[in-house]
Amino acid sequence: MKSAYDVIVVGAGPGGSTAARYAAELGLDTLLLEKRQEVGAPVRCAEGIGTQTMKRFIEPDPSWVALVINRCRLIAPNGKYVEIEAPGEGLILERKIFDRRLAELAAEKGADVRCKARVTSVLKDGDAVTGVEVKHLGKDYKIHAKIVIAADGVESQVARWGGVNTTVKLVDLDACAQFLVAGMNLDPVDCCYFYVGHDYAPGGYAWIFPKRSDLANVGLGITPLHTTKTGETAADVLHRWMAKEFPNASIVSMVVGGIPIDGKPRQISASGLMIIGDAAHQADPMTGGGITNAMIAGQIAAQVGAKAMRANDVSADALAEYDKRWHKEVGRAFKPLLSIRDEVMVYDDEFLNDLAGRLGDRPRLTVVDVFKTAVRTRPRLLWDLGQLAAMGWF
Ligand SMILES: Cc1cc2nc3c(=O)[nH]c(=O)nc-3n(C[C@H](O)[C@H](O)[C@H](O)COP(=O)(O)OP(=O)(O)OC[C@H]3O[C@@H](n4cnc5c(N)ncnc54)[C@H](O)[C@@H]3O)c2cc1C
Repeated sequence: MKSAYDVIVVGAGPGGSTAARYAAELGLDTLLLEKRQEVGAPVRCAEGIGTQTMKRFIEPDPSWVALVINRCRLIAPNGKYVEIEAPGEGLILERKIFDRRLAELAAEKGADVRCKARVTSVLKDGDAVTGVEVKHLGKDYKIHAKIVIAADGVESQVARWGGVNTTVKLVDLDACAQFLVAGMNLDPVDCCYFYVGHDYAPGGYAWIFPKRSDLANVGLGITPLHTTKTGETAADVLHRWMAKEFPNASIVSMVVGGIPIDGKPRQISASGLMIIGDAAHQADPMTGGGITNAMIAGQIAAQVGAKAMRANDVSADALAEYDKRWHKEVGRAFKPLLSIRDEVMVYDDEFLNDLAGRLGDRPRLTVVDVFKTAVRTRPRLLWDLGQLAAMGWF
């Protein structure tokens, strides 16, 4: 490691590696730091991703694609389901390999990549972030940079050290638990299964994302208020569901984690600092999916950083262009997405059963069909869906 770089990226998740890749490609002297000894492990993710957005960054490769998804099944609280055709539109990743490939791409473009390199603090000159302190293989280093990109995930400390408040209220956090389950017998296998309703996942949804017919990520996200009220954690709810639906399957690994879903616009840059991905609460507030949003943010941050470096101006005002571009491209959809989630998913089992009943017998359903039918019962949805349509979502 050198003592100074143009850009230091903290965290080699999908956001950080993408930021480092584009920063290096745009000619910036870039360092990517990862605290773990291996990029990509352990995996804390259901590994589902949309194919088209992914292709904006990288062509799918069999080495990190576990399965191609051709349909989605939405299962109502009463067990009735509807199936949406979506040929080739989803992928289930092997994130351990995928994340490593993204870090390799950053290195191929010229970034210095270091594992076992934990950032312990940021260097500051007044309000401006000017570098990081890092512990690497038992030694402490001070490394200077014009720009630091905080890509250190949901438990981010770098942003806070840099003076940006990233705290999230408990009610705005989805509590998630997920098992990798062996001994399943999934049919169809090229299908993502989503379960909604109070019993499956209070205030959220449950999922089965197959990796093979006998192996799948099975998980759920619930409102933490359920735990406050009943004492039952996300892992408890998942154990209860597993025991009922898949009593003979085996849990081969387990993760728990939180996803911020507040959906509010927030400050994501400061002087010498940009914050991306989970650290900036950029996961989709309706689905909790954050991989591609982190990558989009990483690309925008690298482009804004390169422009700021060319102009020799990394002030808060110059880097605020990142906030604006993020909001225009992705962030402004968060309000309607959160509102749809509250309206459709959260509390009303009767509504969901009724919706599944109305849609049940129709062949070749699309997402638009589901929304059209939902709007007939809940006209308020039209407003949120209209905003998404205006952004080109449908
Ligand atoms: C149970 C669960 C299921 C999910 N399923 C999906 C899904 O199916 N699809 C989807 O799109 N999203 C999913 N998500 C969300 C997704 O995993 C995240 O949105 C995504 O990983 C965010 O990427 P990131 O680069 O911002 O952060 P991360 O992937 O969290 O990467 C942050 C990196 O920073 C490193 N780091 C942290 N602190 C430091 C430090 N001080 N110094 C150096 N390095 C540091 C960490 O080790 C880590 O490697 C899920 C989340 C959970 C909890």
